[in-house]
Amino acid sequence: FTINLIEILEMTTIVDDNFSQLNDFLHGKTFSKIFILVDENTHEYCLPILLGNLETDLSFEILEIEAGEEMKNIQTANQLWEILTEMQADRKALIINLGGGVITDMGGFVASTYKRGIQFINIPTTLLSMCDASIGGKTGIDLMHYKNMVGTFTLPEKIFVYPKFLETLPFKELRSGFAEMLKHGLIADKSHWENLTAIQKLDIEGIIPHIKTSMNIKQNVVEKDFHEKNIRKTLNFGHTIGHAIESLCLEQGNPILHGEAVAMGMISETHLAVLEGLISQEDAQTIIENIQRYYPYLDISDFNDEDIFGLLFNDKKNTDSKINFSLLSGIGECTFDYQCSRKNILESLNFYRK
Ligand code: NAD
Ligand code: ZN
Repeated sequence: FTINLIEILEMTTIVDDNFSQLNDFLHGKTFSKIFILVDENTHEYCLPILLGNLETDLSFEILEIEAGEEMKNIQTANQLWEILTEMQADRKALIINLGGGVITDMGGFVASTYKRGIQFINIPTTLLSMCDASIGGKTGIDLMHYKNMVGTFTLPEKIFVYPKFLETLPFKELRSGFAEMLKHGLIADKSHWENLTAIQKLDIEGIIPHIKTSMNIKQNVVEKDFHEKNIRKTLNFGHTIGHAIESLCLEQGNPILHGEAVAMGMISETHLAVLEGLISQEDAQTIIENIQRYYPYLDISDFNDEDIFGLLFNDKKNTDSKINFSLLSGIGECTFDYQCSRKNILESLNFYRK
């Protein structure tokens, strides 16, 4: 099983500057129908580029949802299942997910469950989805205000990455995706972290040369542990506290971007690693100062500790009602399944608050 998985994944992610490999893929297979899932923004900015580059006589049905995390829920999934049914999509249909992480998570989830699974490919259009969300086969939707509570592990047939899509991406979204790239360096590759923190101005010229390394780090980790039994958990660094804060903001009607929450979570969890004696004060300071260079302070002073703990206890990584953290043991090294005292968790939140 593992060998097959490596083979599949190695063929999966392709940086495609002219869509030629996508065209080869579409010509090489027979699909009964092709659906392209977009949100209103990728419909406007990305779909014309995609359609302009496809050399195929196949016809496409466009499925559009409103943009935003608020749409990543069972109601949207249900609407999409219904439309697929009405349009008589059969098991040989293909869904092309053209968008950010919301589209690739949602489209992957709908495809992996509709008629017990139809094929899908991801064409990520945000930095976050190029480097992270589109890779690794996690699909899913949010439930109430809990993130990604329902989903599947299902690999896309292929992932085609076209970095030029980033030209229309708003700066805040670019910066959000950059947080996951920093995370990749911190958990697995010190030189990637150093290259990223050497970028003076966050723009696509500075970032694009480093996308492939981030994609490779994510893919390598996933290849070793598809079902997140061990090393894949390191990708959750910054996400235990980050997800709790992201969920609280969503619940209170002031959603923040995923990467903004992860940046906050990485700062807090780096301090937690210091309190637990895992990482030196000096490394922690370098990490925290660099993250702060890019991300503005997030005001969490009003968040109640009990609400935060409630969400931490509901984290999918937990076992036996214990909160499991993935914490850095150095720059480029990460532990997982690490349990911390309540006192230290509180102190790491208060460290950020200060
Ligand atoms: P997103 O999909 O909401 O995209 C962000 C915004 O950018 C949206 O408004 C979108 O319409 C717009 N947009 C997308 N591409 C554009 C382009 N090229 N030009 C202009 N606008 C564009 O969010 P995201 O940050 O890409 O992804 C966040 C989601 O990904 C979260 O739901 C998170 O849980 C999920 N995620 C999943 C995984 C995974 O492994 N499955 C990993 C990380 C994150
Ligand atoms: Zn993330």
